[in-house]
Amino acid sequence: MTGVRRWLSKHRMWNLPTLIALVLFLIFVLFLFMVMNHNDENSSTIYVTQDAELRTGPNAAYPELYPVHKGDNFHKIGKSGKWIQVESHNKKEKGWITGWHTNLDIKKDVTASKDSLKGKTIVLDPGHGGSDQGASSRTQKKSLEKVYTLKTAKELKSLLNREGAHVKMTREDDSYVSLSDRNLKGDAYISIHNDSLDSTKANGGTVYWYRKGQEGLAETLNQSIQKKALLSNRGAKQENFQVLRQTNQPAVLLELGYISNPTDEDMITDKLHRHVVEEAVVDGLKIYFSN
Ligand SMILES: [Zn+2]
Repeated sequence: MTGVRRWLSKHRMWNLPTLIALVLFLIFVLFLFMVMNHNDENSSTIYVTQDAELRTGPNAAYPELYPVHKGDNFHKIGKSGKWIQVESHNKKEKGWITGWHTNLDIKKDVTASKDSLKGKTIVLDPGHGGSDQGASSRTQKKSLEKVYTLKTAKELKSLLNREGAHVKMTREDDSYVSLSDRNLKGDAYISIHNDSLDSTKANGGTVYWYRKGQEGLAETLNQSIQKKALLSNRGAKQENFQVLRQTNQPAVLLELGYISNPTDEDMITDKLHRHVVEEAVVDGLKIYFSN
């Protein structure tokens, strides 16, 4: 300090304005430092706010890798639903942590409350029908998408009724209904489909959403299906489907497996597996409406 003072005195700068400028400069540096260390959802460093564990995937069903402790910090490298993929600064440790165990503003998953579906109106839209058979399998079974979307919707309807929900169906039998006629109103809209590709290798379920207000329902249903069903998980994705685009309500389009994949086809055509998926959808809806 005396050195600085001597230099300032020598150059006739040791006066009040200089001191004020010096103090302001120090405050500015401190402020810059704080801003650079500030973390929000866009920044790449996240802090662990509660002792937790890293898992191999974005879901409590994935195995634990190792514990992490309050105050640890990581690079954020990905996000899926309410889970954050992180990597240690030396890149040796990598895994998934729940967002609510970090400094990110992510609320804990709510557990489904018992009566959350009571009085809710759920629209079920079994894809295709009538002259529009949808996708078909290439195995001996020659399964048709329109048959299994309707079966799934009917089975799901009775499970939802049991929870006290009203169900509206866009079709009740094997008839053709145009996409614009499928726009029924309710508290949630679920369009049911099966995927198909030329390659028989593609497999797994996908939950599609399109409008911003539909993403929460999609993530919730995707997590719940992932927890219960044997179907491999392709995630919740945004796609411009007409049935999603033409409605303002929370709406999703479920692709419940590839009918073109023999393993998925076995699951789609198996009543027991469908039941597991349908229960997962009910669970997800209960969680969604518990919020
Ligand atoms: Zn379809």
